[in-house]
Amino acid sequence: MEKKKFEDLGLSPFTLKAVQVMGFEEASPIQSAAIPVLMTGCDVVGQSQTGSGKTAAFAIPAIERVDPKLAAPQVLILCPTRELAVQVAEETAKLAAFKKGVRELPIYGGQSYERQFRGLKQGAQIIIGTPGRVLDHLDKGTLRLDRIRTVILDEADRMLDMGFIEDIRTVLERMPEERQTVLFSATVPKPIADLIKTFTKEPAWVRIKSPEMTVPGIEQIWYEVDRRTKAEVLCRLIDMEDIRYAVIFCATKLMVDDLVEQLSARGYLADKLHGDMTQAMRERVMNRFRKRSIEFLVATDVAARGLDVKEIEVVFNYDLPNDGEDYVHRIGRTGRAGKGGKAVTFVAGRELYKLQNIIRFTRGNIRRGKVPTLEMVEARRADTFFATLRETLEKREFRRYDELTDRLLEQGYSPTDIISALFHLREGEAGRSSGEEIPIPTPSEGNLAARPKGGKAERKKAPFGRKAGKKDKPTRSTARNVSAAGPERTRSVILNVGRDKGIEAGAVLGVILGVSKVPKDSVGFIKMHDKEAHVEIAEGQAERVVQKLNGIRFQGHRISVRVAAK
Ligand code: ADP
Ligand code: MG
Repeated sequence: MEKKKFEDLGLSPFTLKAVQVMGFEEASPIQSAAIPVLMTGCDVVGQSQTGSGKTAAFAIPAIERVDPKLAAPQVLILCPTRELAVQVAEETAKLAAFKKGVRELPIYGGQSYERQFRGLKQGAQIIIGTPGRVLDHLDKGTLRLDRIRTVILDEADRMLDMGFIEDIRTVLERMPEERQTVLFSATVPKPIADLIKTFTKEPAWVRIKSPEMTVPGIEQIWYEVDRRTKAEVLCRLIDMEDIRYAVIFCATKLMVDDLVEQLSARGYLADKLHGDMTQAMRERVMNRFRKRSIEFLVATDVAARGLDVKEIEVVFNYDLPNDGEDYVHRIGRTGRAGKGGKAVTFVAGRELYKLQNIIRFTRGNIRRGKVPTLEMVEARRADTFFATLRETLEKREFRRYDELTDRLLEQGYSPTDIISALFHLREGEAGRSSGEEIPIPTPSEGNLAARPKGGKAERKKAPFGRKAGKKDKPTRSTARNVSAAGPERTRSVILNVGRDKGIEAGAVLGVILGVSKVPKDSVGFIKMHDKEAHVEIAEGQAERVVQKLNGIRFQGHRISVRVAAK
């Protein structure tokens, strides 16, 4: 689809001035196609990808059609979330800035009715709101629809996902018969198609299939990965490149839950976003991600739609997206604002043909990567450590331990031995990948990959391997059910993380099993104190737990672990 000049779309001088001030040089394809149609007043169904400028596409004609002398709601825009409502209201305000007498008003849950009521009384003509709150105002009689000329559903499919379909129907049923109905949706599932059928009259369909589905400036890599080892490969890649801010896409809610659990168990700050969560929960997670209290956001496509977060380092396709379009949507989230981003895609065995479709669709800019070996990850870690060490030495910014050092030297240890011992002690601090051999999948064609020696899938025994053991469900343990399976001769191991940091027994169990790989039944009763967790560990395994867990990061805290005196 062609891009047009705003001057060629039949707009008023007010709007032309506004888009100029906003810095829009030309209309985007969806704007070029939809604006002239919308200006005629007919019903429209619009489809185009995220970030293609849909807001202005529907807001400009809406503003043009508003009668500024009439102080009553004339346009109603329904958005799935409060955040989007605010965004749309802001953009509308900018676009309407030069048309005197046009007022817009966002109404959404969480804001006082009083304030919204005042705005409505002042005669706002363009109302932007979430379905629930709009319905509340209708019921209260504070919002009247009798002068509405245009109703717009933004991200209709997302409103459907969020359970708003009935609210939307109710609102539409109360609309004046004579009106323009506009619906924007990325996809058109059956309930949306029904909605279109019931509530629009011979709508014009404006669909922009982005001609150029490549995403320039994004480095794209794929790895052939065995299903069982995906999590391990993911952690290696993260450790290898020291990634701190990424979105990870999974195919299903279950996979999302599972992966968040695995990542958390290994000490990464991960949280989830999926369709079973309430809007409030989602927003909490998104805010934490924006503030970077979460490093890794694990999400399904649906939940992540419209997710607007900047500066994401990498987008991981932990599970392959359905098609090329989904692929481009997902990876379009990295490298925004002109910065180069990175997209990493995992391909398991038979999915290769799917990847080929995607490559065809995106015109083949995805190169194949080789999973880093454990040695590479460790070497990388050592390099980083070496560099930090040298810097510290050069700057001479460290506390001295002369007395301790002298004591050791006096006892006859050589400096090299002492340093080696210190290195040995700090080992395991930095790395969060588990250190298991990864079986590389059988090459599906040509010389794809070499098999490692002795690479049998040890992961079958892994406590969180949902895929591996059929009945081996992840243990969502509470202190109680752990104690039921408690071992007989135990030692008490003390971790310096407690309830005051919001850490629960289940998470402690998770990190112990995930990192130390001790058998599940060697962990007994876990008692959470304010500042500590006390864990009963089978006598033979206590040392291992201390060794493996000491110094790792867990939910944002460095853990120190010790065995309690008997
Ligand atoms: P969508 O709703 O399709 O995901 P938005 O309407 O949110 O996209 O627009 C994405 C971004 O592009 C916004 O920051 C918007 O201001 C900007 N934008 C919209 N139209 C244009 C244009 N014609 N030229 C430049 N930037 C634009
Ligand atoms: Mg939008």
